[in-house]
Amino acid sequence: MKVSSDIASLKPYVPGKSIQETMREYNLDSVVKLASNENPLGLSSMALKAIIEALPELHRYPDASFAELKQAMSEYYEVEPKYMSFGNGSNELIDLLIRVFCEPGDCILTSEKAFIAYKICAKAASVKTFELPMGEDLKFPLQSLVEFLKNPNNPKPKLLFIANPNNPTGTYIGHKELKSFLDEVSNIPDLLVVLDEAYCEFVREDEAVDGAKLFKEYKNLVLLRTLSKVFGLAGLRVGTLIAQPEVVDYINRVRNPFNVNSLAQVAAPAAVKDKSYIQKAQEVNWKGLDYFYKELERLGLPYWKSQANFVLFDTQRDVMACNEALLTKGVIMRPLLGYGLKTHLRLSVGLMKENQVAIKALEEVLKEQKPLENK
Ligand SMILES: *Cc1c(COP(=O)(O)O)cnc(C)c1O
Repeated sequence: MKVSSDIASLKPYVPGKSIQETMREYNLDSVVKLASNENPLGLSSMALKAIIEALPELHRYPDASFAELKQAMSEYYEVEPKYMSFGNGSNELIDLLIRVFCEPGDCILTSEKAFIAYKICAKAASVKTFELPMGEDLKFPLQSLVEFLKNPNNPKPKLLFIANPNNPTGTYIGHKELKSFLDEVSNIPDLLVVLDEAYCEFVREDEAVDGAKLFKEYKNLVLLRTLSKVFGLAGLRVGTLIAQPEVVDYINRVRNPFNVNSLAQVAAPAAVKDKSYIQKAQEVNWKGLDYFYKELERLGLPYWKSQANFVLFDTQRDVMACNEALLTKGVIMRPLLGYGLKTHLRLSVGLMKENQVAIKALEEVLKEQKPLENK
């Protein structure tokens, strides 16, 4: 069997360990999973109702034109339908963007601590990824991105990926800073700037960005939104792409006609209309983050303020040993070795009870595991 060298050397995405897997492996009755930035509230009751009502129609193919979904998301995002397409999660849209706009041998640009799906999807398409380092603040290095793009000796990336807020760092670029960045890069020929706003509903900063307004001003901007986070539909897989109609048209040519399933197409409109669920999700998240900050300070662990639904912190210890010890106590967090974060864990916000269980387990593990010498 012969596969391309890029596929042969591809390291697959490592998802968070599942609850069932962990219960079995560690012989536990209960497990708290705070590893995948999922919504801890469970499904919105309005979404659940829509799903149940749609069940008897599952022998039909989904609506390939997304009529109801598009209408609902258009109202929610205040963007006309012609600017939108949809994917099987925004992850599929990342994949499609790379397939549509890059040829093998082309390159994309991002940061080394950006969401890892960009690099994985690129490699799968034999597209090279240039990753610029972040500074101590773990924010997207806008200045070095501009310098890279303006240096005539560098290859010309077709796509620039920015996650805002970023996963796994939780860091954020405010409106003013982002605008002046876009002013610098909006006229570079054949470059699309992909702004992945998976966590935008969790932003508490005053200087919040509304990408859905910016994309009309900057024609090379492509927005990605998802129903997986604040809307609690991670298992159904729906992501939204917002871009100029020309971009939408190319994506629609390449995507599979039924890439968003029927249940997802009815659950998404219901979920975005469930205002009280969304509000509750935000409140639970913000209270949870404040609790984590307070506890991490008490435990003396450095952390990064987050505008998303998770916090990144530095255990200052052998992270795989810490992670193993946490798993034996029934708590799943996420190590981030693939991002070059050698002693860090990412902890998603859960219900307050789950947050407390996680912190208690962490406190025990910190006592068992010695800090590394050079820390
Ligand atoms: C979770 C996440 C997504 C969403 O992925 P889906 O495929 O829509 O579930 C996209 N981008 C980032 C940065 C994420 O963390």
